[in-house]
Amino acid sequence: MIEGLRTAPAPLLWQDAVISRINENTPRIKNFFFKLSNPFALRAGQHVDIRLTAPDGYRAERSYSIASAPEDVGELELSIEKIEGGEVSSFFHDVAMVGDTIELRGPIGGYFIWDVSDGGPLFLVGGGSGTVPLMSMLRHRRAKQSSVSTLSLISARTWADIPFRDELLEYAMGDPTFKAVFAITREPSRRPVDYMRRIDGTIIREVLSQLPTPPKAMFICGTNAFVNAAADGAVAAGMAAALIHTERYGGL
Ligand SMILES: Cc1cc2nc3c(=O)[nH]c(=O)nc-3n(C[C@H](O)[C@H](O)[C@H](O)COP(=O)(O)OP(=O)(O)OC[C@H]3O[C@@H](n4cnc5c(N)ncnc54)[C@H](O)[C@@H]3O)c2cc1C
Repeated sequence: MIEGLRTAPAPLLWQDAVISRINENTPRIKNFFFKLSNPFALRAGQHVDIRLTAPDGYRAERSYSIASAPEDVGELELSIEKIEGGEVSSFFHDVAMVGDTIELRGPIGGYFIWDVSDGGPLFLVGGGSGTVPLMSMLRHRRAKQSSVSTLSLISARTWADIPFRDELLEYAMGDPTFKAVFAITREPSRRPVDYMRRIDGTIIREVLSQLPTPPKAMFICGTNAFVNAAADGAVAAGMAAALIHTERYGGL
């Protein structure tokens, strides 16, 4: 053995996970709770891989962000949006039931993560199901009773489509250091603080001014097009590119 030579990290192993609960998040997103055969510690913002195997051996693998906080032990929560014609998301929405076992491996990811010790201000921007890893960060922040100034800007088609809406509103009600702003694209916005269009540079500049000082980190998650638009808007609003972390879910 050569002294000082770093060994390769151990590969993540697939494990069985049993669906323990399913509930509705929005009309298009369901929350799935899993009991893991081999529970793991996680960091807010990480994801897992899911593997489905058909009786004929055909396999489909997809990534899903973790919605639960590192502090939520016992169950792992994933929130999956139904994509029309989507192989794996349709399985979860139309076929999967409590008690089913699927294969899962994780946690994965060391870049799109935030810990209260990283400080802030923290700026979170999510499009649709791209809110999921941001929720893990917010739940972690709450579990640690952190007062790091935080603003979440979430885009959704309608009020009903805002993922984790009531939880975000509840956090904002009881915490002067947290603000939740929504950008609704397909119906009028319901609160004066919200926007009625897709996220753009002007929106980002305006909400940034609600933070006491410029953010130390910004996390953007959603489809490719959403991430591009939000990141371009943030740079145009004066955010340093090095502070912008992005997670792309695919799609247009
Ligand atoms: C790191 C990571 C984390 C992710 N976390 C989540 C999560 O928390 N929740 C979640 O719902 N999804 C998440 N995704 C997306 C997920 O992995 C799948 O891509 C998504 O569920 C579609 O898979 P499918 O098998 O249903 O569709 P497929 O059969 O793979 O695709 C069907 C069609 O839908 C299009 N498509 C694929 N993904 C999207 C999308 N996101 N939006 C619009 N169109 C799309 C494809 O281009 C294709 O045309 C994540 C992706 C990554 C890379």
